[in-house]
Order: sequence, then structure tokens, then C-alpha cells
Amino acid sequence: MTNTRVLSGIRSSGTLHLGNYLGALKKWQELQHQYECYYFIADWHALTTDYADTDALKTNMLDNMAGFLAVGLDPEKCTLFIQSRMREHAELHLLLSMITPVPWLERVPSYKEQQQQIKERDLTTYGFLGYPVLQTADIIMYKGNYVPVGIDQVPHIELARDIARRFNHLYRPVFPEPQPLLTETPRVPGLDGRKMSKSYNNALFLTDAPEEIDGKIRVMMTDPARKRRNDPGNPDVCPVFDFHKIYSPQETIALVDRECRTAGIGCIDCKKMMSTNLLQEMRPILDKRRALEERPREVLAVFEEGSKKAQHTAQATMGEVRAAMKLL
Ligand code: SF4
Repeated sequence: MTNTRVLSGIRSSGTLHLGNYLGALKKWQELQHQYECYYFIADWHALTTDYADTDALKTNMLDNMAGFLAVGLDPEKCTLFIQSRMREHAELHLLLSMITPVPWLERVPSYKEQQQQIKERDLTTYGFLGYPVLQTADIIMYKGNYVPVGIDQVPHIELARDIARRFNHLYRPVFPEPQPLLTETPRVPGLDGRKMSKSYNNALFLTDAPEEIDGKIRVMMTDPARKRRNDPGNPDVCPVFDFHKIYSPQETIALVDRECRTAGIGCIDCKKMMSTNLLQEMRPILDKRRALEERPREVLAVFEEGSKKAQHTAQATMGEVRAAMKLL
């Protein structure tokens, strides 16, 4: 374990699914053994898009907290906290917003992309534009050295670095410049082949029972051109094969790759093999997640405790920030 700090959070905008697990949580679980890690539930970030309807926010937060614990994030090894418990993040967000030029924010690729994609909500808000400033506050508050991200998130970390650098230059060096810790994220398709997402109704959730997962896999989309058992298939366009690549041993991947193309294997048998391999890894997590369902108070207590711990660091940082800015 080094003193290098890693920081990351998940927007609590829905129930955690396999895409979240494979894209982030699994890596976080590994990193907690190597670095000093801070992981948080980003409920304020959920508000940047879901501000008009907050009914599901608490439920989503509790789901996400239980998910963190179910995948093996250990409060003895990392600090687990709730963003909105840390009022210091709001203060640092405000102070950083004083020094962040608006064009820097307008240039962030996800700003325009999401406005185009999420048409049903008005995202011309100040909070949505300032989202990356809040993200910067989250990161640099803990003097995070690394932020585990996929390639699409790198512009956000670059912006965080620019803002930290501007602060250090204007006042005095307080913040290390955070670096992206590029994580290889496998392609995780949903049941219909599109990206796995709660809103597409195509997800395998961490709250699903193993039998539910198996049932969903049975009706999962395959190569759409393979209509009959005797038709040869193309695993490269089949989402079932994407999951084989994640969960199956090399021999099985090679076998499916070969036998699918010659119609030597049928989709029913192929899915059965994949489901067995997926559940072999996921069953303990799914079981633990369902057991935690019965203990919401205990789950919340872990995060309340972690928030207190994180607050020591946050308060110390804010002391330095106020002194550097010559605030009272
Ligand atoms: S055999 Fe497997 S990889 Fe090939 S189309 Fe069917 S489910 Fe997909």
C-alpha cells in the first residue's frame, strides 16, 4: 500500500448493474489493496441531470451503497463516503467556480453530447455546466493523485488538472495535479446488444437473483442473422460472445468462436455455458447484495462512518484553501 491517493465516485442515478461492476467497481476493488482509496456516492452529481424528480434518489443511494459493499469494497481498506455529507465539497466547488473560465466548461465533450442525447430534460442549467467543477472539487479535496477512468472520461480529468494548476498558480501550491488511471473496460452490452443501461431496460442488475440472471440470458439477443440452428453465426456481432470474453476461460472462448461460425454449437447451449461461467464469478456478489437488502441501517452506518473519516481530510484541505486565498 502506498500513500498515493485514488479517488472515484458513482452518480447515484439508478440501480447498479453489471456495466457499473465491470466498468468501475471491479477495478476499484483491486485498487483498494494498492492505494489509499476514497470512493463515494455522488448524489449531488445525480442532481445535475435529475434535479426535477428526486423521488428515487434515496433509494438509489442505498442501492449503490449496498452494491459497493457487495462487490467487496472494504471500509477497513478504503474510505467510503457520501458526497452530500461533505459540505466542504460545496464550498470548494464555489471557490473553484470563481477561477474557472466558462469556455473551459463549454469545451468538455460530454456537455454538448448529453444535452443532445437527453432531450426530455432541460440541461441548460448552471449546475449542469458546472458539473466538472464539482467533480474537480471532489477529486482535489483529497489531493487525489489518480482517478480510475475510461478513455471517454479523460477530458474531465484534464480539466480538473487545469483548474488545480490555475488555483496553485493564482494563490499557492495546495493541490497535486490529478492524473487519469486508465482502466481497460471490456465492452459490456445489454441484453439487446446496445450499451447496458437501466433506461434501455436491458440490464443485468446486481440486485437480480442468479435465476433471474439466467432467465434474462436465455432470452438475450444473439447474432440477428442466425435465425435457425443450422445457420452459421458470427460471434463478433453477438452480445453473448462479449460476455464469454469477460467470463469464460480461453478454451471456451476459442470453442465458441470456432463452432458458432460453422453452426457446430447452438445458441441455447452457448448461452448456458456463458451463464454458468458468469454466475460462477457473480453468485457470491449477488448473494451478498441480497443479504444486505435486509440491513439498510448497517449499510448506511458504514458510509456515515466513512464520511466522518473523509471529513477530517476535507476540513484540513479547506483550511489550506482558505489560507491560500486569504479568506477569513
Ligand atoms: S452460438 Fe453463441 S456466439 Fe454464436 S450467435 Fe449463438 S449465442 Fe451468439
